[in-house]
Amino acid sequence: MTPSAPGNKKACVIGWPVAHSRSPLIHRFWLDQHKIAGSYELAAVAPSDFPVFVRELGGRGFMGGNVTLPHKQTAFELCDVTLAAAKRLKAVNTLWIERGKLCGDNTDCAGFLGALDQEAPGWERTVGTVVVLGAGGATRAIVYALQLRGMKRIYLVNRTKGRADELASDFGAPVETVDFGDLPDVMAGAGLLVNATSLGMRGQPPLTVDLAPLPPHAVVSDIVYVPLETDLLRAARARGLKTVSGIGMLLHQAAPSFERWFGRRPEVTAELRSLVETDILAAG
Ligand code: NAP
Repeated sequence: MTPSAPGNKKACVIGWPVAHSRSPLIHRFWLDQHKIAGSYELAAVAPSDFPVFVRELGGRGFMGGNVTLPHKQTAFELCDVTLAAAKRLKAVNTLWIERGKLCGDNTDCAGFLGALDQEAPGWERTVGTVVVLGAGGATRAIVYALQLRGMKRIYLVNRTKGRADELASDFGAPVETVDFGDLPDVMAGAGLLVNATSLGMRGQPPLTVDLAPLPPHAVVSDIVYVPLETDLLRAARARGLKTVSGIGMLLHQAAPSFERWFGRRPEVTAELRSLVETDILAAG
């Protein structure tokens, strides 16, 4: 990795592996659009090298970077300063250096909410109860986001119920767990169903949930974005339900990071969406 030219603003995405990341495509689009003389690079960093890489981030010429799997929790532990979302999730996906200190935030919650706000405007007015499938890292971010927006009840359903129970006890009311067998009952009163498992993703088993119990005003969100339209979203559309795509979350979580490093709030436009969708389709 070469040091950046003076005045050049440089950021990166740090992961292992990281070659598949769409972050360079997104951030380079915004750099071009805003005519910012900057760059955004891929940084493939093994877990054993991550702490040193992060400590040397500024020395390598980076203003900051995104952090992806498997480094998000370690990044949180390494930061001198973390913002509220990162603290709540104990995971960092955005790093920057401020007055010599390593700072971290987590923009996954903002990404989830940004997609909902853009693709299902006004959703908060009709959604009081939410059903979330999953209990992994993404579910944590989603539950936090839903709590921030004042949802009255959040039901978690997960293959490993103990994991959902842990998450629910960490967040407290209004989060509670239910068994798969109770899914139709809780769906009947839900205004939003979210798939935050990896089911339905290319190469993973399918997600089989009967959407029939959902009320007609319900919104269905799937954070899986490969394929672009999952079976869940297709079934929801076929039932005439409003849908929110996983690619929306991916694009919206990038915006606060870009603003943090480059000082301009970028927009998630149809042109950007189409660029990333084309890339996903081309990857097969
Ligand atoms: P994670 O921490 O590994 O959690 C995976 C979740 O999927 C767990 O709830 C797990 O259940 C469940 N799961 C996996 N295989 C399953 C199976 N065969 N049957 C039933 N449940 C199964 O992953 P994550 O970080 O939360 O991410 C989850 C998904 O969201 C991934 O597909 C990821 O790509 C996607 N994602 C998208 C965005 C976006 O920007 N759109 C952002 C983050 C994540 P157990 O607890 O029982 O293992």
